[in-house]
Amino acid sequence: MTLFTHHEFDGHEQVAFFHDPGSGLRAIIAIHNLNRGPALGGCRMWPYADEEAALTDALRLSRGMTYKSALAGLAYGGGKSVVIGDPRRDKSPALFRALGRFVETLGGRYIVAEDVGISVEDVEALARETGHVAGTRAGGAGDPSSATAYGVLTGIRAAVAHRLDRKSLRGVRVAVQGLGNVGHALCRALAEAGALLVVTDIHDDSVQKVVAELGADPVAPEAIYDAQVDVFAPCALGAILNDETIARLRAPVVAGSANNQLAEPRHGIALRRRGILYAPDYVINAGGVTYVSHEGPGFDRQRALAHVAEIGDTLAKIFRRADQAGQATSEAADRLAEEHFRKPAATSAAA
Ligand code: NAD
Repeated sequence: MTLFTHHEFDGHEQVAFFHDPGSGLRAIIAIHNLNRGPALGGCRMWPYADEEAALTDALRLSRGMTYKSALAGLAYGGGKSVVIGDPRRDKSPALFRALGRFVETLGGRYIVAEDVGISVEDVEALARETGHVAGTRAGGAGDPSSATAYGVLTGIRAAVAHRLDRKSLRGVRVAVQGLGNVGHALCRALAEAGALLVVTDIHDDSVQKVVAELGADPVAPEAIYDAQVDVFAPCALGAILNDETIARLRAPVVAGSANNQLAEPRHGIALRRRGILYAPDYVINAGGVTYVSHEGPGFDRQRALAHVAEIGDTLAKIFRRADQAGQATSEAADRLAEEHFRKPAATSAAA
């Protein structure tokens, strides 16, 4: 395993590995860029096949956080942590306390929050060992998933307006892949807006809940790419936009919460060539981090949500820039984000 020559290294400022023999914790914290402030990013717990897969994920995710915070106008840099383990089997209070001590050793360079496989209770266990935590109920914000879903909803509205020239989501068909914290909340918000849902998850109990609650149309996990819909909303894991799936997509819009949706940067260009409007993942899914950035004394939920709603405007700007420059939306977003984090900057609205 290499680090400085790793294909996802991308100039990371710091990468730390941690092992706690007592709890069995094996974790990596990657800090990509601190120009705008301390690195804020969630912790992901996943049964990675090996350490190489865990490191690759940590590097890709932390880089994405730098771009995300820059475009959301936050005074934070990019970082992320990963824990190697099965969240349905390997969690223990000792494991999260050990992770909290690990975060504490970084002295505030990294602030931890939720991501896949981590609950608000887990983050609160971390908070017993470190103050460098966001997304606790005591801090006011709590689980950021519903704010992320709200941001994705505003992003879907912007994408549907731009690509389909439709102002309302009534009757718009949306295929949601992954019905976890964000996917389920997004389905509720879409149903309320009058959208029609096609849904899938690898866990049948999650699918049945959404079918019973919202009358969604279920499909098998592999069939979601072929769904005849207006919007494909990936809300599970990354790298699902690749050579095989892009050729199959029938949706003219891809807009969902999953991080690192493009298997490789060239897949952003492949989507554009197929006439598919892609809402860059780190822009549309910034609702959670934006929401928790407001945490603290006097937390104002309405103010935080108004900030989240700016995601729609930021995306509209990126769509226009991409059209004008004849670029993929992923390229237009990267250039805009780089303008905001390549030099130290105070908090400012990026859009
Ligand atoms: P989660 O773990 O609660 O949900 C993920 C869901 O995806 C699970 O139900 C899982 O069974 C399902 N899934 C996994 N592989 C699948 C597959 N191949 N096909 C169909 N379903 C599959 O996670 P979450 O918090 O809802 O996050 C979802 C995505 O959004 C992740 O990529 C995450 O990084 C990203 N994201 C989340 C937040 C947040 O606030 N939670 C913020 C920004 C980005």
